[in-house]
Amino acid sequence: MLRASMEQVVIIGSGPAGWTAALYTARAQLSPLVLTGLQPGGLLTTTTIVENFPGFPEGVDGYELMSRMQKQAERFGARTQFGTVESVDFSQRPFTLVVDGEKVQAQTVIIATGASHKHLGAPGEHELENKGVTYCATCDGALPVFRNKPLVVIGGGDSACEEAAYLTRFGSVVYLVHRRDTLRASKIMAERTLANPKIKPIWDSAVTEILDVTQDKVTGVKLKNLKTGAESVLDCAGVFIAIGHVPNTNLFKGVIATDENGFVIPGTGAATTVPGVFVAGDCADHVYRQAITAAGAGCAAAIDAERFLAAQAV
Ligand code: NAP
Repeated sequence: MLRASMEQVVIIGSGPAGWTAALYTARAQLSPLVLTGLQPGGLLTTTTIVENFPGFPEGVDGYELMSRMQKQAERFGARTQFGTVESVDFSQRPFTLVVDGEKVQAQTVIIATGASHKHLGAPGEHELENKGVTYCATCDGALPVFRNKPLVVIGGGDSACEEAAYLTRFGSVVYLVHRRDTLRASKIMAERTLANPKIKPIWDSAVTEILDVTQDKVTGVKLKNLKTGAESVLDCAGVFIAIGHVPNTNLFKGVIATDENGFVIPGTGAATTVPGVFVAGDCADHVYRQAITAAGAGCAAAIDAERFLAAQAV
């Protein structure tokens, strides 16, 4: 039997956008309900030190930052529910969400579902996931299987640089395989990466296969030099894929407007194409994608939701 509860504001997602939206709507006395999703705190909980969130001159652990945001929002009355939204009906207000089989009704919804790791699509990637292929050095880097072994990181952005630096604590050498000959990462991260003697960049190269499915573990990668076409095999015990993110918006396909890559297209402010449904953070941002911009967007979405509710009450 489905039980329906009525909420003023439901926030889907618990990253920086979600918690900031929760903080502001809680302080507006709207008693928001935060649905955490399967990864409470979002992707930031899988990073180590966050050095660019203002207010933390020494940096702050990603998990700790998210815990602090949660505590701050809860202090003012935000409620947290561990759960995954299975479906949404935005065709009429109040909106209806089904959360782990339970019906929740909401006057407004703030979508802050963030983004997930992008997959490479190479043969062996799927078969060897968690058998040496991973998307998170912080989560898996310390595993015994990677200790004092050559490791491969794929990508050329900030994530790849961060993963590579972290893995130098464990691997004998960290190969950074990038499809171009310059890093996309921010200057400070790129310089640090290239100055690290344990990180060996392999430029202009694509991983065309992850070996070895027949042994049920990672033993190496097949590489193709994209300039010369030369193919080679690089031995390694682990492959860390850090090639960007895809927005977590499948739930909203055909319900609100998204672009061809699935990012929600925001209207004025944090509005979506459905009045009363607002959006914040990485699920709508393929440009800035920072914790601080997501937090700022969460604040904007909260203010928009509050004003929307106030206008309805008039
Ligand atoms: P990103 O900046 O989009 O970089 C993705 C990298 O993967 C690019 O170098 C890209 O190559 C490569 N790539 C994409 N698809 C590929 C494919 N199919 N095969 C091989 N390579 C592929 O993603 P990100 O590094 O995850 O960063 C996302 C955002 O988070 C950025 O705004 C970043 O600044 C931020 N971030 C910040 C920090 C920090 O400041 N501490 C840490 C992590 C992330 P091309 O360069 O050729 O496009």
